[in-house]
Amino acid sequence: MLAQVEKISVERKVVRAACPHDCPDTCAMKITVENGIAVKVEGAKDHPFTAGTLCTKVARYLERTYSKDRVLFPQKRVGAKGRGEIERISWDEALDTIA
Ligand code: SF4
Repeated sequence: MLAQVEKISVERKVVRAACPHDCPDTCAMKITVENGIAVKVEGAKDHPFTAGTLCTKVARYLERTYSKDRVLFPQKRVGAKGRGEIERISWDEALDTIA
């Protein structure tokens, strides 16, 4: 007996982008996006300068972007320096502190 398979529609598109790093190469990128989630990052082969190559920082962007260790909210140190004691703060507090 075969298991029933539910069909799921996937919206897939390739978006052109430029590397956001402050680097003179300004590599062109192609990002494959499925249902609003980036699933593949590659260099654009038609870029005249780098011809489809991305450096190691950016070629692994998805791992960094979706890492469970990525910092998503402002935090501040509350303990002695080097002890790793931090607490989450609001964006307003972070901006006021920086300003
Ligand atoms: S992908 Fe790497 S080499 Fe290319 S512009 Fe970005 S940082 Fe520079």
